[in-house]
Amino acid sequence: MSDVTTERGHHDVVVLGAGVSGIYQIKRLTDLGIDAIVLEADDDLGGTWYRNRYPGARFDSESYTYGYSFSKELLEEWHWKERFSAQPENLRYLNHVADKFDLRRHMVFNARVEAMEWDEDDRTWHLRLQDGSTTTARFVITSIGPLSIPTLPRYEGMDDFQGQSFHTWAWPKDPVPLAGRRVGVIGTGATGIQVIAEIADKVGSLTVFQRRPNWSTPLNNAPISDEEMAAIRARYDEIFANCAASPGGFEHVARWGFWDHTPEERRALWDELYDQPGFAMLAANFAEIFFDEAANRELSDYVADRIRGRVHDPEVAEKLIPKDHGFGMQRLPLETKYFEAYNRDNVHLVDITETPIERLTPTGIQTTAGHHELDLIVYATGFDAITGGYDRIDIRGVGGQALRDKWRDSPSTYVGVLSHGFPNLLMVAGPQSVSGSSNFPRAIETGVNWVTGLLQHALEHGHTRIEAQADAEQAWVAEVERAHERMLFRRSKGWFTGYNSNVEGHQEGKVRYQAYFGGAPRYATVIDRAVAEGYPAIDFS
Ligand code: NAP
Repeated sequence: MSDVTTERGHHDVVVLGAGVSGIYQIKRLTDLGIDAIVLEADDDLGGTWYRNRYPGARFDSESYTYGYSFSKELLEEWHWKERFSAQPENLRYLNHVADKFDLRRHMVFNARVEAMEWDEDDRTWHLRLQDGSTTTARFVITSIGPLSIPTLPRYEGMDDFQGQSFHTWAWPKDPVPLAGRRVGVIGTGATGIQVIAEIADKVGSLTVFQRRPNWSTPLNNAPISDEEMAAIRARYDEIFANCAASPGGFEHVARWGFWDHTPEERRALWDELYDQPGFAMLAANFAEIFFDEAANRELSDYVADRIRGRVHDPEVAEKLIPKDHGFGMQRLPLETKYFEAYNRDNVHLVDITETPIERLTPTGIQTTAGHHELDLIVYATGFDAITGGYDRIDIRGVGGQALRDKWRDSPSTYVGVLSHGFPNLLMVAGPQSVSGSSNFPRAIETGVNWVTGLLQHALEHGHTRIEAQADAEQAWVAEVERAHERMLFRRSKGWFTGYNSNVEGHQEGKVRYQAYFGGAPRYATVIDRAVAEGYPAIDFS
């Protein structure tokens, strides 16, 4: 039964989504005494960590850089047990935060917003929920997540399959039996790579249907002892300052000078980085790898050799090495014994570029080379990233304009927070913010704090309408495009460039500028300057 009634009344602020961003956003608003609620589509809080329960789901940011930084008390009392904490613990953490700060009472669950319309006369958003109920708000803050709309392939016969099948995002809460079962996984992105490595030794057989391989380097996870946690706690201020100073919101520090070193020196560095935790291989490497094709090729050759050294069958190894994009040119998945999984007798790699999937059958998957009998099919086929959550809500701004029409070719925002023609709609971790390109919670805290400051400014001055100026928005889009075009990955096919073969209009050859790749420090400079100058790009009335 839904928690919502037919008319939910009016609030100064309605926040959409009770994930990592929504939890912090409602904390900030209620601390300020602002009348606000959170509407969450799901039946509980946690967002990505509520949903992604697939085996192997864990942070690939260091846990202690992923947690919230806003409460000293919270930092003091929480013990991260692993360097890269797993989903059950992450969800426990978010529940702990919500309970500690008594935030649940501001949250309404099973409250999926389907449509929202701006009323210029009363300067109010009118929201309609899936159950037909309605509510109004002066301001709406979206914290709906950049990876919250899972996408499925469109193979013939998908409904005919008689076994169990689901997207990784919808992995059931009840235990899924794996022992002895014939499992197929479609997709080898960050999710597929985690799930494949985790279940390889737990299933009867595992068949991986790979379209394009991804680069991947070791996560190098480890437990965090009491002593280590104490040392981390003592260093929290420094840790968060380091993250704020780095482009991707991590403690890893990149260096310039690729060509100042000999190939031997570079390989020696890479040998070291390969064994370091997390994104070291990417974020503590020479910065030239992102901009200089020759530098990137040399590093890609090195990582390819590491893959060859780990996979026994040379033919399989070659299939696992990306040939269409260089290292780090798509979002890098991190792995734990992923490549070794292919050395197991019960694991089979099917290259569906060579032998495409023709259809699903009641008992498995038919490729052009033969039929694979399966009991369970796992779709690790990704998300309608960044703008997907916005496209699913019928958002109508000034004059009835639909946001999904405005953003059809590519989103357009002012610093990822406002979009001209959609007054009083504030986005946390929105398209063209820094969130898509960095350690997510670090960017979220920046976003929530900025949005909250803007809102406070409006309320204190008695403003009932705020809107980004069209030319300021164009200038920001130009900055987003400029930052994107500098990067080598601009030619790659991943969600960085808005590619998703399963979403209409998001195919190859048409870049969607969905995230800001100018780095967190540069982004912070821009938004801090806006505050210092009294928000010159925003019209208040
Ligand atoms: P993804 O990176 O988009 O990967 C989707 C995979 O499915 C790709 O291998 C893709 O192949 C394949 N695929 C999609 N449609 C297909 C189709 N119709 N037929 C065959 N194969 C198909 O999605 P993801 O792995 O879920 O990761 C998404 C993002 O979530 C990551 O980039 C990351 O930001 C985040 N994530 C984070 C963590 C973490 O923090 N630890 C873990 C998991 C995910 P192509 O490459 O050929 O398109």
